[in-house]
Amino acid sequence: MEEVRRMMVNGQAELTEEQWQAIVRNNRVYDHTFIYAVRTTGIFCKPSCKSRVPNRENVLLFQNAVHAESAQFRPCKRCKPQGVLGPLEEWAAHIEAYINKHYMEPLNLESLADVFHASPYHMIRVFKRVKGLTPGEYIQQLRIKQAKKLLLSTEYTVAEVGSAVGMTNSSYFITVFKKKTGFTPADFRKRR
Ligand SMILES: [Zn+2]
Repeated sequence: MEEVRRMMVNGQAELTEEQWQAIVRNNRVYDHTFIYAVRTTGIFCKPSCKSRVPNRENVLLFQNAVHAESAQFRPCKRCKPQGVLGPLEEWAAHIEAYINKHYMEPLNLESLADVFHASPYHMIRVFKRVKGLTPGEYIQQLRIKQAKKLLLSTEYTVAEVGSAVGMTNSSYFITVFKKKTGFTPADFRKRR
């Protein structure tokens, strides 16, 4: 099972007899466990889709719509398979929620990956595919957004603002802030 899962994370896996039967019988129970694409039509469906049963040798298995779309398949208009929140989307949402709660701590990708029992490489890849940016980029974006708020709404020094958003090295904080906003933190504050 673990092996199959790993293969599916990478895109596709061999269709089992059980999965094939789910497709043939339009079995709804399997809708959240996989989706399938048909090589000859270029379309992907949920197992429960009532469309014509394809030839088994043309069927490709994917863990979710994100993967099928990135393999250039189009969603079926009939069963609308993109709405299914797959395990990867759910996983990425958990990572996002964790970052939202802990961005002010000295987070790094290794410790974050540890929390989610994954390699940093795998975590970055999944997060980016689902969210469109890497966890590192997301953390930085959030820190800068919070720093802007603090600069405008408190009397904290620049170093204190940096620390409050998890960037204890204040020259690094200033460099990143300037790169992202076009202003140093001090200049940004003068604009209020
Ligand atoms: Zn369909």
